[in-house]
Amino acid sequence: MSIINNFNFIKEKISSLNCGVTEVIAVSKTFSLVKIMPLIEIGHIHFGENKVQEAKQKWSGILSENKSINLHLLGKLQSNKAKEAFKIFNFIHTLDNCKLAKILSSLEKDNVRKINYFVQVNIGNEIQKNGIDYNLATEFIKYCRFDLLLNIIGLMCIPPLGHSSSSYFKKCKELADLNNLKELSMGMSNDYIEAVKNGSTFVRIGNSIFGERFT
Ligand SMILES: *Cc1c(COP(=O)(O)O)cnc(C)c1O
Repeated sequence: MSIINNFNFIKEKISSLNCGVTEVIAVSKTFSLVKIMPLIEIGHIHFGENKVQEAKQKWSGILSENKSINLHLLGKLQSNKAKEAFKIFNFIHTLDNCKLAKILSSLEKDNVRKINYFVQVNIGNEIQKNGIDYNLATEFIKYCRFDLLLNIIGLMCIPPLGHSSSSYFKKCKELADLNNLKELSMGMSNDYIEAVKNGSTFVRIGNSIFGERFT
């Protein structure tokens, strides 16, 4: 199947679930522009990358020509890369610590420009996993919103491998509701249907659109 067919299949699958509006972020990490261009040509505007450097090399030219494209950062953001990331990404899905939040807040002030953030929550309470502790999340969200004035639009989570994702998606949705956050970045190629059923508003899909990644 072609990339466009794959993409349309996923869009139709999601709309057949009748769970409201869910945006598809086409996760183009490791894939070249040749594979990405067809989606841009049909008017798709949400794309995800994992690494600041790769994103910059791949996207800088396209972004300057096509202002409607939204680039989403899905990978861990090191503080020393925040400045570069701030230049090209419109959405950061991996905000999970105060140091990074403070840096982003001062970049916003210096540049008189605001972007959108998801707070990443370590929903399965895993050691060695990115995301803020579930128990600290509400306090962190409040700090980011009301002290730093960051535009926190929702929560992002990646459920533990090898478990059914549904209960984690539910838990994340509840936490978002408690904090009056509307958006949920949940679901990848293998679990996006469960995610949409549990209220996801942004699914992040790579393999199922672009094919297997070999790197
Ligand atoms: C790579 C990646 C995705 C996409 O994963 P697929 O299994 O290719 O759909 C989604 N979210 C994050 C955080 C990723 O790193």
